[in-house]
Amino acid sequence: MIELNSVSKVYPNGTHALDNIDLTIEDGEFAFIVGASGAGKSTLIKLLLREEIPTSGNVYVNGFDLVKMKRRHIPMYRRSLGVVFQDFRLIPNMNVYDNVAFALRVTNTPTKEVRKKVPYILNLVGLLSKAKVYPEELSGGEQQRVALARALINNPRLIIADEPTGNIDPQLSYEIVDLLSEINKVGVTVVMVTHEHGLVSRFNRRVITINDGVIVSDGIGLPKNY
Ligand code: ADP
Repeated sequence: MIELNSVSKVYPNGTHALDNIDLTIEDGEFAFIVGASGAGKSTLIKLLLREEIPTSGNVYVNGFDLVKMKRRHIPMYRRSLGVVFQDFRLIPNMNVYDNVAFALRVTNTPTKEVRKKVPYILNLVGLLSKAKVYPEELSGGEQQRVALARALINNPRLIIADEPTGNIDPQLSYEIVDLLSEINKVGVTVVMVTHEHGLVSRFNRRVITINDGVIVSDGIGLPKNY
């Protein structure tokens, strides 16, 4: 579960990025976070990833108190999440298999388990046949599916996707969100930031709209004024 209580973020230069936000996302939900550029979406994601801490208020994710969290506990916390970024962040000199296996190896997973889990996850995202291929040989949509496989490999309870479709064409974007929906169906909470209204409107999901650092609407589907 994600819980933000009276969260404000003011950057050192005085910019008010978030202003007194209250937000709860329950386990098993699928929520889009939408808003214009500069609305505060990335700041919200940075708070959830514990890359930033709020100026005031509290942030809790899956039982972790992110404001009180000690620095040395941050890597362990982040490994409990599945995170997908707009720019994929794959390792260019590793093939698809190793890009995904890497996320298991850093947690010292036994080789036997790696050999079982990686093909299973690659199959789930439809890329088993590309296991030996390097990222540069893949389309944007395929690269994002590898990133998704990597995000899923440690069985996270929560997937945070920050503009995951920002670098891929509309049809493949739909497929990525469809895949996230499938993942959500098995109980994984999904939070996806996007500014693509066309995409959001194709899914009947919770939409949290941020404008100027404030939540201006929160409900199923896009608000009427979009
Ligand atoms: P979005 O992701 O919706 O585009 P951001 O969270 O990136 O919005 O930005 C919200 C506001 O905070 C904007 O006015 C932006 O210029 C400002 N901002 C973002 N990051 C910083 C930073 N590191 N320092 C100062 N201001 C920032």
